[in-house]
Amino acid sequence: MTVSSATIPSATKARILVIGATGFMGQFVTKASLAFGHPTCLLVRPSHTMHSKAALLKSFQDKGATLIHGVINDKDQMERILKDNEIEIVISLVGGGNVLDQITLIDAMKSVKTIKRFLPSEFGHDVDRAEPVEPGLTMYKEKRVVRRMVEESGIPFTNICCNSIASWPYYDNCHPSKLPPPTDQFQIYGDGNIKAYFVDGNDIGRLTMKAVDDVRTLNKNVHFRPSMNCYSVNELASLWEKKIGRTIPRVTISEDDLLAAAAANLIPESIVASFTHDIFIKGCQVNFSTDGSNDVEIGTLYPDEKFRCLEDCFEDFVPMIRDKILGGPNDELAKTNNKSLLEAVPITAMG
Ligand code: NDP
Repeated sequence: MTVSSATIPSATKARILVIGATGFMGQFVTKASLAFGHPTCLLVRPSHTMHSKAALLKSFQDKGATLIHGVINDKDQMERILKDNEIEIVISLVGGGNVLDQITLIDAMKSVKTIKRFLPSEFGHDVDRAEPVEPGLTMYKEKRVVRRMVEESGIPFTNICCNSIASWPYYDNCHPSKLPPPTDQFQIYGDGNIKAYFVDGNDIGRLTMKAVDDVRTLNKNVHFRPSMNCYSVNELASLWEKKIGRTIPRVTISEDDLLAAAAANLIPESIVASFTHDIFIKGCQVNFSTDGSNDVEIGTLYPDEKFRCLEDCFEDFVPMIRDKILGGPNDELAKTNNKSLLEAVPITAMG
């Protein structure tokens, strides 16, 4: 066990096990758990030799995290880990391909009987309401299986429905927010006017930690719907153009185009197409109200908590494309754009 003095865990804070701390979403939640002063254990798969992940884990250790080697699909091992570390709250952020691994974890939590709250690997849409076409639907069906198992197990739970991470959605089929928005061409889905909610990763982590032991989120779906970050693709495109001080050509991707891409069954392109269709054609984030008895909205729970605005989030991407904005010899768009490239930089810098 490695505990540094950077964060001194309070005795009154619940002991948390984060599963998937090295993952894309897991990093935000782990950071927040440590910042909130929870004694935080991280379950790490044994084969961690990748330098980037080792460095990340070391940075969490330096902030007070305890690393535990293991996998969730080993029931005996998980029971031992939960007991030995007196875990009270389990937050799972396993990736889309490992959703069903949580079944064994649920069995282990049921056996130890000491878990006060489980947050399964949701962190997206309300999977009981959203209905993407295949192949995306398969992951939702798996998340639904986990939901039903948790409900039947009697383990107290909270489902985090945080909608989209603040970025250009699924650009180049990459992990959201790993890449800046496009600089060559925007793909506009349908008429481009269906809206979605975009949330900064650190806000997802921080507000998840507020909700994690709040009695009002017990056995509820917690929806993240910041009204100031509700944007259509057309609006996202305009925001990015304003940020970088230049216009970018737009190409329309119709509903039929998206459905054909989904039906092609290529991974990950078809999964991305099915989610894109669900969000930007069917409006799966905005086409229902959250006033059901199982629903709570994060903004209502914590009215004083601020969300980072999407304009600021997009500002983070600007340094990533600065060279392109400055226009190298091969930047055709720079050559043809009416705006002076020298003009573009100050506009960007001013945000
Ligand atoms: P990643 O694939 O980036 O990371 C998954 C993590 O889980 C890794 O740390 C991995 O460990 C760990 N893991 C996987 N299987 C096991 C196992 N059997 N035992 C222990 N650890 C395991 O996942 P994402 O961050 O992409 O996804 C997490 C959740 O967030 C998913 O539910 C996903 O749908 C959702 N999501 C939501 C987004 C949004 O915009 N709202 C965006 C992206 C994801 P290792 O490092 O060893 O591989």
